[in-house]
Amino acid sequence: MYLKQLQIKGFKSFANKTIMEFSPGITAVVGPNGSGKSNIADAVRWVLGEQSARSLRGNKMEDVIFAGSKERKPVGMAQVSLVLNNEDGNLPLDFNEVDITRRVFRSGESEFLINKTPCRLKDIHELFMDSGVGKESFSIIGQGKVEEILNSKPEDRRSLLEEAAGISKYRYRQQQAAKK
Ligand code: ATP
Ligand code: MG
Repeated sequence: MYLKQLQIKGFKSFANKTIMEFSPGITAVVGPNGSGKSNIADAVRWVLGEQSARSLRGNKMEDVIFAGSKERKPVGMAQVSLVLNNEDGNLPLDFNEVDITRRVFRSGESEFLINKTPCRLKDIHELFMDSGVGKESFSIIGQGKVEEILNSKPEDRRSLLEEAAGISKYRYRQQQAAKK
């Protein structure tokens, strides 16, 4: 599985629809300070279900919507789509490509879609569980994350190892079953 494409529109500094194509292997994003490199990583975490505005470097979720610049008016909606190549079947969906989309409007209304079909945030979490991808997963190591992992509580460190080992879905199912 690999990240094939990212489409960003109206998210943070990306006012216009911007399409980035990726190939298997290493991709480096370079650019001057403030040009939007970290906003790309924020877009990936956001579409994967990040719910904390602070961890996206904002105060409220509306802050992810393009707020306008000298040349452009603010926009009313932020949208990010991420396309994963799933030819290896890592994601439990019978599709070679999986498209995850998230939208948010200034009204606060928001939606998630898997392959263009509306779904719940819970469906996104369940889809990526144990896949190595996901907002809490080890696939995104931000600045200071390594130190955070080393200094974290044993239980938190264990959950990261469980995700890496691919067993967190069993703990999740056990918890879901215990709720019923
Ligand atoms: P550095 O090299 O310093 O880490 P960077 O390339 O990672 O920089 P980002 O942090 O991704 O830069 O981008 C910061 C820019 O994004 C700032 O200019 C900020 O004004 C802009 N920005 C963030 N949120 C919004 C928003 N909602 N609307 C418009 N612009 C935004
Ligand atoms: Mg940065």
